[in-house]
Amino acid sequence: MKTIGMIGGMSWEATVSYYQALNRGVKEALGGSHSAKIWLYSVDFDEIQTLQHQGKWQQAAKILAGAAVGIEAAGADFLLICANTMHKVADEVQAAISIPILHVADLTAEKLLADGITKVGLLGTEFTMEESFYKDRIRENYAIDVVVPDKSDRTTVHNIIYSELILGQIKDDSRQRYLEVIDQLHDQGAQAVVLGCTEIALLVQQHHTKVPLYDTTEIHAAQAVKLALADCVN
Ligand code: GLU
Repeated sequence: MKTIGMIGGMSWEATVSYYQALNRGVKEALGGSHSAKIWLYSVDFDEIQTLQHQGKWQQAAKILAGAAVGIEAAGADFLLICANTMHKVADEVQAAISIPILHVADLTAEKLLADGITKVGLLGTEFTMEESFYKDRIRENYAIDVVVPDKSDRTTVHNIIYSELILGQIKDDSRQRYLEVIDQLHDQGAQAVVLGCTEIALLVQQHHTKVPLYDTTEIHAAQAVKLALADCVN
C-alpha cells in the first residue's frame, strides 16, 4: 500500500471528513482491520485564512510548500492538498517536491466527464468561484461549462463557509440558502453542482436535493484510496 500525504487543517473539520473517507475506503477494499497509511501535516488555519484574505498567496504557498517538503521527506508517495481554495498555489507546492499532487479539480472534472456532464454549477469560496485557477482549469482542460452564483449569492456562500462551516457550525437556514442557490444553478442549465469546498458536504448532502451533487472531498479521497491501493495484492 502506498502512503498518502495530506496537508490538512484547512479546515480541520474537513480534514476529519478526509481522514474518515480514506480509512473507510481502505477498509472497504482490503477488509478486516486494514486502514490507510497517512502522513498528515495540519496547519493553523487562522494563519492561512488571514493570508488568503490579505491576498498574500505567496506567503501561504510557502507554508504549504514547507509542509509538503516535510511530508515527502517522511515517506509519503503522493500528496493531497485537503482544500479546493489552496489549489490556487498548487503549482508552487508541486515545484517544491518530487511526489505528485492529486489535483482536486482534475479528479472532479474527470468524474464529471465520465458521467457525461457538460455544464456544471460550482460552489466554493469566492476565491474558487471567481478566480481562474479552478473554473478555467475545468473549462479549458475538460471542455465542461462552469456556472457560478451571482455576486450576492457568492458572498453568502463564502461567508457561510468562513463564519460557520470551518467552525463546525451547521445551521438549517444556511442549508436552505445553499439549496436555493443550487436550484438557481440548476435553472441556469447546470446538470449537476460541484461542492467545490471541502466543508460544504457537512451542510448539504445528496438527500437534501434532486440536483446531482459532486462532493470534492469524497472524490479526492476516493481517488487517493485507489492510487494508494493500485499495486496492492492484499
Ligand atoms: N476547505 C475550503 C476549500 O475547500 C475552504 C477553506 C480554505 O480556504 O482553504 O476551499
